[in-house]
Amino acid sequence: MSPSTQDNVLVARELYRFYRVGEEETLALRGVSLGVGRGETVAVVGPSGAGKSTLLACLAGLDEPSGGEVRVDGIRISHRPEIERAQLRARHIGVLLQTRNLLPHLSVRDNVRLPQRARGRRAPVPAEELLARVGMADRARALPRQLSGGELARAGLAVALANAPAVLLADEPTGELDGETEQLVLSMVREQAAAGCAVLIVTHSREAVRVADRVIAMTDGHAADTRRHDPEETQHVVG
Ligand code: ADP
Ligand code: MG
Repeated sequence: MSPSTQDNVLVARELYRFYRVGEEETLALRGVSLGVGRGETVAVVGPSGAGKSTLLACLAGLDEPSGGEVRVDGIRISHRPEIERAQLRARHIGVLLQTRNLLPHLSVRDNVRLPQRARGRRAPVPAEELLARVGMADRARALPRQLSGGELARAGLAVALANAPAVLLADEPTGELDGETEQLVLSMVREQAAAGCAVLIVTHSREAVRVADRVIAMTDGHAADTRRHDPEETQHVVG
């Protein structure tokens, strides 16, 4: 699917990201273009340092690309003040990170409510209902530090889905999970896609690659679209 296709909810055009640390310059993204359609699940794979997390942060508006642009539902999210990016993110994007999408001083329920308030409209799904969906109804009052790894993953998922986002972005969400929690996270991700969400998931997991419609392989700041999921073709990049 070409990045300019109108059906694409998420579109990135020619993304560049340079980091300068002292004398050293890193080119983390070297002209990455991609599109993710409604209901489509795309897996992004590639070795450590390839630029996957940088790409995801730019797509989420958590980071600004040095060049190129990101559009969500036709609205440009890149090259805006941080507060505007945060508001667009709250309205359109769910972000699932390995551990970092829960604030430590807020209960699980308040963590889910936070993006719902930032959205500025009535929550599409009450926090309690979302927590029940991820099997966390009885842990709503707990603080993140009181949760096990699997529970943190479930709570993080509820936060990512708090506003029924059009786009779900996940950075290695199943990296440290037990098999059962990985299955839960992946089945909920599939449920989102089935409901029309555009899903992009950075992953090393074979299971996650298996559920994807398309795989994008990243190396050294470049992205190669393999178009269609082909287990033979992706075998070597997943390891
Ligand atoms: P991946 O997620 O594929 O492992 P990253 O996107 O984290 O890769 O990193 C891509 C490259 O950018 C790496 O060379 C990394 O060292 C560099 N990089 C990432 N974040 C920063 C940063 N904040 N400052 C400097 N260099 C960075
Ligand atoms: Mg990474």
